[in-house]
Amino acid sequence: MDKKILQPVSYPTKGACGPTGTWRSQRPVYDAALCNGCLLCWLFCPEAAIAREDRLINYDYCKGCGICAVECTKNAIAMVKEEVK
Ligand code: SF4
Ligand code: SF4
Repeated sequence: MDKKILQPVSYPTKGACGPTGTWRSQRPVYDAALCNGCLLCWLFCPEAAIAREDRLINYDYCKGCGICAVECTKNAIAMVKEEVK
């Protein structure tokens, strides 16, 4: 039987107002030591901003909604206040 590899149905892209990363007031911080690789964060991220392979977060497109942190059952993603640059 062929192995099916799950892929996101879309990829991050600029909207009419630019990259959604500019919306963020909080940012998700990923802790690989707590992660069990369940991929719930990758599946639920509305911006497809989490990489399937290593859960690295694309901050150009992460809008800081916090869904990934809520869905993570291992507390491997924490939301922290975005630093003003
Ligand atoms: S906070 Fe998490 S779920 Fe929301 S856009 Fe960023 S990476 Fe995706
Ligand atoms: S939801 Fe949490 S435990 Fe699952 S892959 Fe994402 S960070 Fe890891």
